[in-house]
Amino acid sequence: MNRREFIKTSAAILALSALGGCKKEEIAKAAKRGTMTYREFPGIGAKISLLGYGLMRMPKTGNGPEIDKEKGFALIDEALKGGVNYFDTAWFYHDGLSETFAGEALSRHPRDSYYLASKLPMRLLESGEQAEEIFNKQLEKCKVDYFDFYLLHNLNGPLWEKTLKNGAVDFAMTLKGKGKIKRLGFSFHGENKDFPKILDYTKWDFVQIQANYYDWDTFSKEQYEEAAKRGIPVVVMEPLRGGELAKLRPDAREVLEKAEPGSTPAKWAFRYIAEKENVLTVLSGMTQMEHLKENLTTFSPLEPLSDEEEKTLAAALKTYKEAGIVPCTACRYCTPCPVGVAIPDIFKIYNDYRRGVRISQTKKAYEALGSDAMATSCVECGACLKKCPQSIEIPKELKRIHKEIEG
Ligand code: SF4
Ligand code: SF4
Repeated sequence: MNRREFIKTSAAILALSALGGCKKEEIAKAAKRGTMTYREFPGIGAKISLLGYGLMRMPKTGNGPEIDKEKGFALIDEALKGGVNYFDTAWFYHDGLSETFAGEALSRHPRDSYYLASKLPMRLLESGEQAEEIFNKQLEKCKVDYFDFYLLHNLNGPLWEKTLKNGAVDFAMTLKGKGKIKRLGFSFHGENKDFPKILDYTKWDFVQIQANYYDWDTFSKEQYEEAAKRGIPVVVMEPLRGGELAKLRPDAREVLEKAEPGSTPAKWAFRYIAEKENVLTVLSGMTQMEHLKENLTTFSPLEPLSDEEEKTLAAALKTYKEAGIVPCTACRYCTPCPVGVAIPDIFKIYNDYRRGVRISQTKKAYEALGSDAMATSCVECGACLKKCPQSIEIPKELKRIHKEIEG
């Protein structure tokens, strides 16, 4: 049995365990289209859908953070119907509105039909008392008595030093002892050198890292392996780098299209990362129903890439990387800029240009932001640099982009 067959069969068995049987004919049936792949790990004590729902990019009613509830509810219902049972929200998502939405949408379903994850906003946190206040508010917003999964949000080296002083880990452990948190983890957006010491500090049930085929060799692989060798399952975030890997560029897309006509870049990206055996779930921030439906198909069941397909994906990545696209995931952690520079919007306009949008159209979109929001307003204060999890040299990139578009 080759690796592909092995993983495919394992996925089928895991999918089957959700159905409560494991005869050969049932395994074959479970591997058919329409059956979500699930993962189980000894310490997790739950069957988790390999496709998880990230609630940071829900459909909006306008340009603000407000979520379109009607569309959002329909997405959540469809996801549950398709077998997704892991939902991930956070204090910061949608400027504080994501948890409220999660509560409203999910409380229409039985509490045992979904696993809910939320996060303690470490950037904000100064003391244990504040942590308690935030946590209670989160339970209230999410309309739950406990969180199935709870994370210290967005740790990195400097934030970890602060975390050691503000008592957040002890606070979370106490809540776990009381059953208010079922599984404790952290999400990480830092340098690899700081990762092992956080992993070793306490008994984490899981960890959330950024992983995709673009970042794999740069930092994701090392983090994944550090977690795997400690037996800590991994929740994958940014499998599409904020949607960038779903778009790619026409020339890179062509490489994939040739190898598998009719497939999509997103499907390739999911298949690459989700097949890794220490992955518990892969979070996708699905804004549109067609994306959700496509992803449900991709994960029902998940079919790993063959060695040949991995080579094809590497070739597409090479083409894509040569295009000079800014690796912005549109997370908006860098906002608001104190002088109003529209950082993620500028990067989006530029990346669309590198993907083939005409320069005249690009210039128009860039100038439509208004002079205050354009790159020339940047005073190089450096505030955004500390917040960007992708370590983008924002002021430098802004200067370069302005020159390229206006030049
Ligand atoms: S460095 Fe420039 S873009 Fe970044 S926060 Fe400061 S002014 Fe805004
Ligand atoms: S520049 Fe960095 S922090 Fe800002 S949206 Fe992009 S990835 Fe996020």
